[in-house]
Amino acid sequence: MRWTILTLFPEMFVPLKTSILGRASKAGKLQIEMVNFRDYTVDKHRKVDDHSYSPGAGLVLACQPIADCLKAIDPEHKAHRIFMTPAAPILSQDRVVELSHYEHIIVLCGHYEGVDQRVIDACFDEVISIGEYVLTGGEIPAMVLVDAVSRYVDGVINQDSLTMESYVDGKLEYPQYTRPRVWNGMAVPEVLFSGNHAAIQKWKDEASAAVTEKYRPKKK
Ligand code: SAM
Repeated sequence: MRWTILTLFPEMFVPLKTSILGRASKAGKLQIEMVNFRDYTVDKHRKVDDHSYSPGAGLVLACQPIADCLKAIDPEHKAHRIFMTPAAPILSQDRVVELSHYEHIIVLCGHYEGVDQRVIDACFDEVISIGEYVLTGGEIPAMVLVDAVSRYVDGVINQDSLTMESYVDGKLEYPQYTRPRVWNGMAVPEVLFSGNHAAIQKWKDEASAAVTEKYRPKKK
């Protein structure tokens, strides 16, 4: 799967070159490239932003550098194009799985007050928020998106991990334990050493239901 991130701060993307995603890129399972859309501005001072027309608001990223950048890297609009913004539907695990089927996704990172709405309307297919809070820029949201979606690309992680984790079947995961058997006076649940697969599965189901009820109680 190929990702192209449009950003003014390509140096921020170290996490995508590290650990599991770094290894997947080296193995050719992922291709992640950063493009600085400042390189496409026609402004002689290399400016990419200007004051908002809304009184009191700060700088807004202008249409021209972003539109010209897209024309250069995806002239026929073959890629799925996403703008990260808090003013959008919140990313869900279901959408993460759907997005993993695209061959090429372009992600635009906003900054400052945001991006001129006209270039979003004219050139992008989808807007995504990573949660109900505002960050300084779209770089961290873009990394969240790339990480979450890339886990579902074949060969990036062990597929078993994807079938037994939070949000599969709408539930949160049961607690995990490792050695030692007793730590700080707290013992690992006895049933996990029983060798009784049915009893272990029952414990997992009940623990998962309890965690889900605690943190995601059903609205009554
Ligand atoms: N003025 C905007 C608003 O009130 O909705 C916030 C702009 S924010 C300071 C700058 C950029 O950070 C946004 O254009 C977006 O790309 C990114 N950003 C901030 N919070 C985000 C979130 N929760 N989800 C996705 N992107 C976000």
